[in-house]
Formats: sequence, C-alpha cells, structure tokens
Amino acid sequence: MMNLSARDLPMAALTAEAQRHLVALLRCDTTNPPGNEYLAAAYLRDQLAAEDIEARLIEPAPGRVSVWARLAGSGAARPLLLVSHTDVVPVERAKWTTDPFGGEERDGFIYGRGAVDMKDMLALELTLFLHFARRVRATGQPLRRDLILLAVADEEDSGTHGMQWICEHMPELVAAEYALNEGGGMGIDLGKQRIYPCEMAQKGAMRVTLRAQGAPGHAAVPHGDLAVRRLAQALERLTAAPLPMHVIPTVRRFIGVIAATQVGAQRAMLGQLTNPMLSERVLAALPNHDVANALRAMLHTTASPTILTAGTALNVIPSEASAQVDCRVIPGQTPEMVRGEIARRIGDPRVVIDIDPLSPGYEMPQTALFDALGRAIATHDPGAVVAPYLFPAVSDSRYLAPRGVIAYGFVPHQPEAGVPPVQSLAHGHDERVSVANLHFGLRVLHDTVQDIAG
Ligand SMILES: [Zn+2]
Repeated sequence: MMNLSARDLPMAALTAEAQRHLVALLRCDTTNPPGNEYLAAAYLRDQLAAEDIEARLIEPAPGRVSVWARLAGSGAARPLLLVSHTDVVPVERAKWTTDPFGGEERDGFIYGRGAVDMKDMLALELTLFLHFARRVRATGQPLRRDLILLAVADEEDSGTHGMQWICEHMPELVAAEYALNEGGGMGIDLGKQRIYPCEMAQKGAMRVTLRAQGAPGHAAVPHGDLAVRRLAQALERLTAAPLPMHVIPTVRRFIGVIAATQVGAQRAMLGQLTNPMLSERVLAALPNHDVANALRAMLHTTASPTILTAGTALNVIPSEASAQVDCRVIPGQTPEMVRGEIARRIGDPRVVIDIDPLSPGYEMPQTALFDALGRAIATHDPGAVVAPYLFPAVSDSRYLAPRGVIAYGFVPHQPEAGVPPVQSLAHGHDERVSVANLHFGLRVLHDTVQDIAG
C-alpha cells in the first residue's frame, strides 16, 4: 500500500466507471433555470446507497437538491471537500449535432451539456469517492482526513439554492481544510511548455451603472447637449485602454512561472507583463489572443459595458442615457477605488457613476494541496508545470473562501489537437470531453487525493 500511485491501479476499470457515471449524469436535464437538480441528486444517492453509503440530501427549495456524503478519516487532518455543481446552462438545441442530454459517445468523445462544466469532474469525484470508500473497507485503514463529496445545485444561475444556502445554513457541512472545485486545470501550451493553471484566487464582481445627463428636445431640431453622445464618449474612454494595473502575489507568481519556462527574448518579454509601461505591448505581441486577453484580465480590474438604455420615442431626444457595466474586480480593490478609477478615466461630471455592492474576490495561500497537484501533473504529464492562477470569473468557491476553506479550482484537462479549449466548450455548442481526458483527470485527481489524504 506504500506509495500507491494511479499507475498501479486498475485504472481502466475506474475510467469505465467514471464514463458510466458521466453518461448517466448528462442524461439528467438539469438546465438552470429551472434546475431540476433532483434528477442528478437521485442518481448520486442511488450510486452511493448501492455501496452502503448514506447521502445527505439538501433541498432548500422544491427540486433544488444538493448531495453531501462523507467517508470518515482517522481525524489526523481536517477534511478534503470534493466539490462540483450538478446544474448546467441552457442549450441552443438547433446548434448541436447531437442530443445535448443524450450522453452520446462518438469518436472517443462523450457529448452533452455539462461534459466539461462540470459533470465530468462530478463523475470523477464520485468515482474516486467510491474507490477510496471500497479501499478503506477492504483494508480497514481509514484515510488521514475525511473525504467529503459535495455536489451542489444552482451554480449557474443565482447560486442561492446551492452552495450559498449550504454555507449560510449548514456551515458544518463545509468545515474543511481543503476543497477541489472547478476554475482551473486546463492545460495551455505556451511555446514548447505546457502549463496547468491552478485557480487560487478569484476576482470580485460588481455592477456599475453610468448615467449620462443631457437636455431633452425635439428630434427634428438637434442640439449640442445630447445624453446619448455623452454616454458614447464615456464608454469610448472607459474601453479604449485597461484600467490601472494591480498585480496580486498569485498573478506575480503565475507570470514568474510562465516566464521561467521560456527562453531568451520570450522570457524577458513575459517578465515585462507586470510593467505598466510595457504590459500592453507585450500582450499585443503574443500570438494567441485568447491568452493575451486572459492575462490582461488577471492584471486589471475590467469594465465591460453590456446593457445600454436610452430613449422612449423616435422623435424625442432623451435627457438621460445609461449603461450597465460588468466590472470584475482584482481582490483587494474596494468599490470606491474602482469608482474613482472609472471616474478619472471618464472625466465628465455629467456622467453619474452608481455602484452596486461588491461580491468580493479572494486570494488563497499556496499550500500542500498545490504541491500535491504539481506532483500529480509531473507524474502524468511529464515536463508540464502547475502555476497559481487568478480566475477572472466567479465560482462557488467564493462562498467557501470566507469560511477559511482552501479552495482550488483544478479540473485536469490535457489540450488536444483539433479540439477547442475547455474554456470555449463550456457553455458552447457540442460540449464534449474525450475519454482520454476523463482517464487523465482520474489519474491526476486520484494521485492528488492519495497524496493529501492517503
Ligand atoms: Zn461550472
């Protein structure tokens, strides 16, 4: 039993098991809204019950069921949470080449809404949970810490019937040292180097509303004091260049790791990413625009105007025009700091800036769980490295962070030739995951759990 690694196990059988779980879960239509997560919850409950594990079902609203199950450890260390969400985003059915809720396998891929966000991880976590439960039963030797399977409802919409509700009403269920969740783990090839970002920080989210004032009037007799024009100018100034740079330690380490993997001029160039004078020129020189945009989002609070409103009739000049701006805030920045940056950028006192409460981001420390992920990746993808990463969007980990849980986002996916990256498959058409990646994820996560809890 010493130094048991995934390579010594009958991993093919476990992969087949994970695949069976994934197909069954993809066939549960848990589109949110409305959710109907009870479908996936019933499947999980039955799979656990078949192995004499009693799941706890949490149902704060009808049909919105989350599942919690615990494999008791020796108590030598505090629990590890295996976190996932069971709901998925809606589909545009006509754009799919397969039934999004069919779980079809084609050419080595399993298709379905949720295949990478995140029923694949759910299937892997269920498989590993059952695997370790069987092993403990067979050997009589508990793990060092509790292993807790937590599959929650309502991540993709409001979140109020899933992780948020559990954290507020049943915090004892998430009292843990570590959590593994979504948000990172997708391999990226940069030059000859493969990097797996480990999500250790998350940006905050805040709605900002810009209200430009002007004079009303008859549209047949235009004047110079137009609210619409003022708003357009404000949006042009706001979006012409990034807001000021704020580099947090996670991002500094991320850039340090990726720069260190490159050679010569490329290394020196990447090292200048955190130089406010040169950063944009470095980003413009990167061949991959998706990577450049992702790096920019890690270095700045972003402001994306998404909803514009003005006017009620064709022949009436509106006296107010407004824009809602989706701001994603670097951890540590306060709402007033962001408002100040936006106000200075727009520079027009007749554009009023209203801010909604900030849903704060967070930054986690680098811990033994990070090291364990690094060792598992080094074993199963030799030469690749794991880098700390600031996730530009939000996940349920934001509810765990204030409770002191070290939550990392890491769903292992190897990049595959000819296959769109995970980031564009998630929420996209023909969402799919390869059986090869399911196998890879299972091995990496197995070794990580074994390392941290075995
Ligand atoms: Zn997700």
